[in-house]
Amino acid sequence: MRPLAAIVDLSAIVHNYQVAKRCAPGRQAFAVVKANAYGHGVREVVTVLHDIADGFAVASLEEAAEVRAMHGEARILLLAGCFEPDEFAIAAQLELDVVLQSDAQVRALAAAELSRPLNVWLKLDTGMHRLGFAADTLTQWHAQLSVAPQVGEINLISHLACADERGHPLNEQQIERFLELADLPFSQRSLANSAAVLTLPAAHMDWIRPGLMLYGATPLADLGVRELDLKPALTLAARVIAVREVAAGESVGYGASWVAERPTRIATVCCGYADGYPRHAPSGTPVLVEGRRTVLVGRVSMDMLSVDISDVPEAGVDSPVELWGASLPVDEVAAACGTLAYELLSRLSVRVPRRYIG
Ligand SMILES: *Cc1c(COP(=O)(O)O)cnc(C)c1O
Repeated sequence: MRPLAAIVDLSAIVHNYQVAKRCAPGRQAFAVVKANAYGHGVREVVTVLHDIADGFAVASLEEAAEVRAMHGEARILLLAGCFEPDEFAIAAQLELDVVLQSDAQVRALAAAELSRPLNVWLKLDTGMHRLGFAADTLTQWHAQLSVAPQVGEINLISHLACADERGHPLNEQQIERFLELADLPFSQRSLANSAAVLTLPAAHMDWIRPGLMLYGATPLADLGVRELDLKPALTLAARVIAVREVAAGESVGYGASWVAERPTRIATVCCGYADGYPRHAPSGTPVLVEGRRTVLVGRVSMDMLSVDISDVPEAGVDSPVELWGASLPVDEVAAACGTLAYELLSRLSVRVPRRYIG
């Protein structure tokens, strides 16, 4: 068997969910499990949070149906709402909570025949300018929907553009715009993603929406998982499959882009960009071999990458390698690659078998 796996510690996800809840005492939480629970496996994550999470949030009806099949009662929020008019009837059958972010969605809902009323979340565009209504439009729709037979609860939702940057002026502005509408009779209100859960108590409202933090990665550039008491849930673990000595002046890998400046011991590791390891990871990206920190050298191939193990004398063929995880935060690897933990986790390929512990 190819020596590469994603080891997912489900107890870490439970711990991180509890950290989110402790950050926002008395509030409820939608555990965000879109994109296959950020690559961790939606079935296993929903199962371990089954009796703990107040609700779940997903990006599509297909994802919602998968969660509903595992959980008969939970509130399940469709974050971007329905994409087609006929999805409203299915959403009602599945007893989902749906975001309404466009006039077309509201009209389709008002024309739909539903088996039961839907709880709706009117999305206010507070400044991200991706989805949602202007305040006056939202106020009008609120009035119309409050007498619509298709509608149960009317709730308010918005999304923060810069919550990961503490002190960014847009944060206060978005919270203010959100609160300006709070006088309308909404049943529930929700604004906070992970970054806001961790750093913006004024944004907590009634329901928080933690995603990334559940998986033990940090959305904040200046606060790491250790300071935040988050536990990395996924360890991308591989083994060394070959070792060689490379003389000074010799190159390693495609394009001969990395050249040894001194005699170097090179380990070839069984993980590549077809597994979701970023191809653009530069030489110098951290990697753990035998639990010791060393660096990637040369270009990442489809199925393999190379690591300098000159300073890890005990390393050899079969040595364990951690590409990221419990001992090497994915945030650090992402930073070295000029991307975010969000991308590395959600792009981990289906080729990598997931193994569950905890
Ligand atoms: C994905 C998503 C979240 C979760 O964001 P994190 O930064 O991962 O916590 C919350 N709200 C919306 C609307 C989302 O799309």
